[in-house]
Amino acid sequence: MSLSKSYADYNAKDPLSSFEFNRREVRPGDIQVEILYCGVCHSDLHQVRNEWKDSIYPMVPGHEIVGKVIKTGASVKKFKVGDIAGIGVMVDSCRVCKNCNDDLEQYCEEGFTGTYNTKERDGKTIAQGGYSTQIVTDEHYVHHISPKLDLKAVAPLLCAGITTYSPLRYVGVGRGTKIGVMGLGGLGHMGVKFAASFGAEVTVLSTSPAKETDARRLGAQHFLLTTDEAQMKKHKNHFDVILNAVSANHDYEPYLRLLALNGEMIIVGLPAEDPRVNPFALLDNRRSIIGSKIGGMKETQQMLDYCAEKNIVADVEVISIQQINEAYTRMLKNDVKYRFVIDMASLK
Ligand code: NAP
Ligand code: ZN
Ligand code: ZN
Repeated sequence: MSLSKSYADYNAKDPLSSFEFNRREVRPGDIQVEILYCGVCHSDLHQVRNEWKDSIYPMVPGHEIVGKVIKTGASVKKFKVGDIAGIGVMVDSCRVCKNCNDDLEQYCEEGFTGTYNTKERDGKTIAQGGYSTQIVTDEHYVHHISPKLDLKAVAPLLCAGITTYSPLRYVGVGRGTKIGVMGLGGLGHMGVKFAASFGAEVTVLSTSPAKETDARRLGAQHFLLTTDEAQMKKHKNHFDVILNAVSANHDYEPYLRLLALNGEMIIVGLPAEDPRVNPFALLDNRRSIIGSKIGGMKETQQMLDYCAEKNIVADVEVISIQQINEAYTRMLKNDVKYRFVIDMASLK
């Protein structure tokens, strides 16, 4: 066992504060990673506040982890001490079902083991996340990170990056695709970067007029202020794909109406309340809604390699762990440019 310093949430109402706990012994297939940076995902905030009604406390959030390998188990093949490693939303899965065998561990038939707010596969140990000094994980669920990239800006790729990369690849976004990215936050800004790099025509669909300049800098050709009725009307039946990365409760209907024939809305945002869906908005134009959950291990590594090749990273604001509660407050006001990343040196 090894002591890990961290920040944890003790219940749905109070702010996060310091917490110490033991990580497991390094098993033969495990690696131990000293955490350098951890991104702050809106999923952390949903779970801290028990918005998905499944929170386990005390909870150490964080699933956008970048660090340095400090120990390897006897049978580890992929990593050596000193390597830069990344850990995302999953730390385990059944490893034998069809989906696990098809490199789609995120759809494991038994359900994957999350990096935090879940019991590990022993059914007892509570998995704790990346707002901590170190983590011990089976090497299969760890990724290689190119030391060429800016590590603090790489951390968000482990969730926001793969969660947007995977569905854009799946639906075939590329040259000729008119795509709308809804919600210019952590996920949304990565969605814009990837869609633009795949050659698509990108429009940001935002409630924040002040984000227009950034939207264009990130790679969007157009900006649609969704609170402006006239602009919404003008874009009726316009998009082939909409990537919905909105964290707050909202109706799907006005956005579905923006899709052209056979248009697809990809849901990645996970608000607390179920949205209203008007079936007529689907029947018109034979539209469809699909959901997408992070990405498998193989695809996550492909995404990281793609980012290293194209020099794609997140736009980040580095904070100390002591600023985490303030960061959550700003996140709720849509005031994030475009991902907070915790410098874990502040915990030591
Ligand atoms: P975030 O950084 O807080 O961004 C969310 C954005 O949603 C905001 O910046 C805002 O953009 C937009 N928004 C907020 N309130 C809105 C409203 N009332 N109507 C329309 N748009 C609104 O959050 P994030 O970290 O990117 O996460 C986004 C969502 O994805 C969360 O629900 C998270 O839990 C979920 N998620 C899912 C997966 C998955 O595997 N599917 C993985 C990670 C996260 P504008 O200012 O541009 O309007
Ligand atoms: Zn996340
Ligand atoms: Zn499985």
